[in-house]
Amino acid sequence: MRILITGGAGFIGSHLCDRYLAEGHEVIAMDNLSTGSEANIAHLAGHPRFHFIKHDVTHYIYVAGPLDAVLHLASLPSPVDYLNFPIQTLKVGALGTHNTLGLAMAKGARYLLASTSEVYGDPLVHPQREDYWGNVNPVGPRGVYDESKRFAEALTMAYHRYHGVETHIVRIFNTYGPRMRLDDGRVVPNFVRQALKGEPLTVYDDGSRTRSFCYVDDLVEGIVRLLASDFHEPVNLGNPREMTVLEFARKVLEVTGSASPITFIHPTDERTRDDPKVRCPDITRARELLGWEPRVSLEEGLARTAADFRLRLGLA
Ligand code: UDP
Repeated sequence: MRILITGGAGFIGSHLCDRYLAEGHEVIAMDNLSTGSEANIAHLAGHPRFHFIKHDVTHYIYVAGPLDAVLHLASLPSPVDYLNFPIQTLKVGALGTHNTLGLAMAKGARYLLASTSEVYGDPLVHPQREDYWGNVNPVGPRGVYDESKRFAEALTMAYHRYHGVETHIVRIFNTYGPRMRLDDGRVVPNFVRQALKGEPLTVYDDGSRTRSFCYVDDLVEGIVRLLASDFHEPVNLGNPREMTVLEFARKVLEVTGSASPITFIHPTDERTRDDPKVRCPDITRARELLGWEPRVSLEEGLARTAADFRLRLGLA
């Protein structure tokens, strides 16, 4: 296949580039490098089947030649990023999805939208199944991300139903691993970086909110299977092992062998407004349709992530 991956220089996008190249495909990574980084794809420079196009997907997209698949990963998925860049977040979810769907239709390519567990908002159904419609505050600070992805899902289904595009929608739950941006403000980079540097781990409020963390290789495996499937409704991909943020902080300390203290912070900005109290994927659909489930334990995944962070922080 000849595959376009938007957000290809980002955390998940770059791992997808590696995976499809390893399978013998040709990969075009597109990224405006606003939150993605050339460092994530530097090892692919000069690869005969890899190309990079620096472009902002909110503008018309031109790609020469045929395409068999378009994977739309470009996004600002960290709460800190979408609070800082709310309008760009809405544009990449709305205009970026429109442009990439139009491209897929013109090329007769399969399409995959990277959606999110945030479409469930602060969920009133737990764990979250795909048939739950969610509890999103459209005018809250997280609304810019959540609503852009909800719009993106609606647009993707419209292109499928109206234009017959072979579309797929993956709802990605918290994912972590090597190449996460060290300063993206999310809980995994924050805690791992803090633990390695011997700084206090910043648990917001009382640390009782829950999340479920999926290692990036597991997610990539699920995405590859979903793209190859003939299923068009959304599919959750995530690790159903749920824990509180405080439990997660203790796990990071244990895996890294860090003596950092844990400190409780009460953010006064909008960072934790509408912060989902619980989050855990029901992965029955992925299990049944794709034969998929996560394989990498949190302990193993965190150890690999910490090794990558040590190198990038100059601590190795
Ligand atoms: N969080 C925290 N300390 C941090 C960063 C995040 O306690 O330094 C909490 C945050 O309030 C949320 C959870 O960790 O309840 C996960 O936050 P993250 O930003 O990783 O992404 P989210 O799952 O909210 O999209």
